[in-house]
Amino acid sequence: MIPHANRVLELRDSIFGEMTKLAKEYNAINLSQGFSEEVVAPELKKYFCEAINEDFNQYAPFTGMPQLIKSVIEYNKKLYDISFDDNNVTITNGATEAIFLIFQSIIDPGDEVLLFEPFYDSYHTSIKFCGGKPVCSTLSYPGFELNFEELEKLVNPKTKAIIFNNPHNPSGKVFSESDLLNLIKFAQRYNLYLISDEVYEFLIFDNNRFIPIQSLQNCYENKKIISISSASKTFDATGWKVGWLIADESLNKLIRRVHQYVTFSVSTPAQIAISRAFINFDSYIQGFINRYQKKLNMICQLLDDIDFEYVRPQGTYFLIGNIKNQSIKSYDLALKLVKEYQLALIPMESFYDRSNEGETLIRFCFAKKDETIISAIKQLGLGLK
Ligand code: PMP
Ligand code: GLN
Repeated sequence: MIPHANRVLELRDSIFGEMTKLAKEYNAINLSQGFSEEVVAPELKKYFCEAINEDFNQYAPFTGMPQLIKSVIEYNKKLYDISFDDNNVTITNGATEAIFLIFQSIIDPGDEVLLFEPFYDSYHTSIKFCGGKPVCSTLSYPGFELNFEELEKLVNPKTKAIIFNNPHNPSGKVFSESDLLNLIKFAQRYNLYLISDEVYEFLIFDNNRFIPIQSLQNCYENKKIISISSASKTFDATGWKVGWLIADESLNKLIRRVHQYVTFSVSTPAQIAISRAFINFDSYIQGFINRYQKKLNMICQLLDDIDFEYVRPQGTYFLIGNIKNQSIKSYDLALKLVKEYQLALIPMESFYDRSNEGETLIRFCFAKKDETIISAIKQLGLGLK
């Protein structure tokens, strides 16, 4: 093998890339990777083109375009009554970069980080990449409840941080105020950083309520609370790669220092377009939520029709199905479905470190056109016979 850094071998290949590649190879319907098949709203496309024509084409400041930082501060104030200033916000290359930067800024080799499985894979990888050790607590199917007894057993003097995702990919769970308060108390008791990934903050269904962690205690009061969000899901624009993190000023300074040498800055016209998208946000977001609520209702009805067991998500655009009555593990089933039935889904084994629950669970992304969802569930029905 070519000479390489040892830490690279610690990294896993992403299941999202693998399944999407197979979907292309087998010309399959792709309900695997989390991206929208809907087109970006016409006004958003217009904002992007306008930004280019207005000559927003050179490097943005490494901290982020002031216009977008202002929009992030304003929506947090207006929707959640949380006050931040521009020293708290850093614009990143999607939430993915925010996750990477935060761990690079707080984790030394040997430090441990608590996370919840099933987990979004970049947490695991980003922790390992700076020499940290990911330590998982299991959110058990089907309720995906936090297990504080288990957390108490896992925490130790090496534990430096805990990363949490609300609404939760892949389960679709939206955590309650008491869950969040307990988590804050736990993090405070052990003096841990508490990182909350809230990229699905606007994808909430069935009158559930999302509570941003910083509305309960923000980074002014508790210097160790950090939150992350992104335009990827909210504006159906995963390819624009615009995200942000919100942290205490002194920590944010260090994170920005890392960011300067990782990507330095984020696409200038994309930042301008997203900042303008927040201007008429109220009317946009209602249409957005209604559209996804209909998709959720539809996929659930179709799954009911073929008698398939699943958990109805409270948020996100993912849904977990249970295949325990199949005599095959989820990875093998996913390969069979993509190769023989032209349907790509995500087998959930790779979202777990400790538990084997993932072997019977499979994730669907329903951010797809109605006809795609209908064809997908038809193929699933055939594949499970
Ligand atoms: N966090 C979670 C929980 C995700 O599902 C994703 C994937 N979209 C990300 C972060 C990354 O988001 P972005 O596209 O903004 O990098
Ligand atoms: N967040 C997306 C998902 O959960 C995937 C993003 C990626 O491919 N890294 O499917």
